[in-house]
Parts: sequence; C-alpha cells; structure tokens
Amino acid sequence: MSRYTDANCRICRREGVKLFLKGDRCFSEKCAVDRRAFPPGQHGSVGRRKPTEYGLRLREKQKTRKTYGIGEGQFRSYFVKAARTKGNTGERLLQLLETRLDNIVYRLGFAPSRKAARQLVRHRHIVVNDRIVNIPSYIVRTGETIQVKEKSRQLDCIHASLSAANQRPAVNWLDLDKTTLAGRLLEAPVRENIPTPVQEQLIIELYSK
Ligand code: SF4
Repeated sequence: MSRYTDANCRICRREGVKLFLKGDRCFSEKCAVDRRAFPPGQHGSVGRRKPTEYGLRLREKQKTRKTYGIGEGQFRSYFVKAARTKGNTGERLLQLLETRLDNIVYRLGFAPSRKAARQLVRHRHIVVNDRIVNIPSYIVRTGETIQVKEKSRQLDCIHASLSAANQRPAVNWLDLDKTTLAGRLLEAPVRENIPTPVQEQLIIELYSK
C-alpha cells in the first residue's frame, strides 16, 4: 500500500479543518490550521477557489480518508462493503472506520493519534481477547476486549496519552478500565455517537456516480 509521508499539517491545511493527526500539538497554539488558515503551496495564500459540486464531494471523501489514515483502495473497499450491507450506507461506512483496531486504540486514549495507535498495534503492544493482534485494520467486534499487553503497560507514551485524552471527545460505546488498560466495544456506534465531523452523504454521492 502506498503511504502518505508528507507533513500531516499540510493535509489539514488543504482541507481547511483540523483533522487531529498529531496528538497534543493539535490542541495547542502551534496548530498550523490556526496559524496559517490557507492551503499549503506556493499559491496557497491567494485563497480557495469556489469548489465545484464534484470538488465538494471529493474533498469530503479525502477529508474522511485522511482523518482515519486510510489508502484510496482500502477506503473504496470499505464503501463497497458498507453499500452491500443492510441499513444506512453512510453510517455503516463510519462504523467500519470506527471499529478498526487502530481507531479503537486511539479512541480508548492509549495513543495520541491514529498514526501512533497504528504503530502500537504494528509493534505488538495490543491484545484482543488475550491474543496479540498486529493488524491495524482488524475490525473489532461487539464484546471484544482490547488491552495493552502486560509487558507494555509501563510504557510512558501510553500513560502520557491517557492523561491527555480528556481533551478529545469521549464516546459512550467504549468502556475503559484504566487500571488494567483494557477497553471493550459495547456496541457498534450509531451515527450521532461518532464525533467525526464529516458529511458522509457527499461520499456516497461521489462513489455512486
Ligand atoms: Fe492538523 Fe494537528 Fe497539524 Fe493542527 S497540529 S494542522 S490539527 S495535524
């Protein structure tokens, strides 16, 4: 899979909103969206052109994809999967993104960003139902327990992240026990309990063309 290696803050500036890709910095006055509220690049300071209908939809898809740090192909496959399942396609798409293991590790507060969460998973620090899972895209099922493995529970980065996690919006579909660093997915999240400010309807319109 191709991996985006450019500066994270440029992504937020391109979309014109905070995507919270860098942890603590995003909540500080150093945030690039606050300091330079125009697109990156040589002509960025000229401002934004009025987007076309297509452009609006495209940007919404890109914003969502970048928020969760997912490649184009995988994002489209989530859409196809969501469209095949019963119910609201937009909500189902967001559910798939939210129940990825890296996102759940981030939401539980074990990592300051989804990128850092992915690294925790890849480096085998996370167990799901007592088994190490090192696949960030693993879809967590309702009732499963996500825990930091015993040997990794002293890691400073995890405790620092947990103590700063109250800056982020809390979700009621995850249960966390801070003493054992274990969380549980209580239920598949419904749209109003997913604090990601995207208009998923625009993504559906983009892919349904
Ligand atoms: Fe985005 Fe965070 Fe950089 Fe601000 S600090 S521009 S929210 S990645």
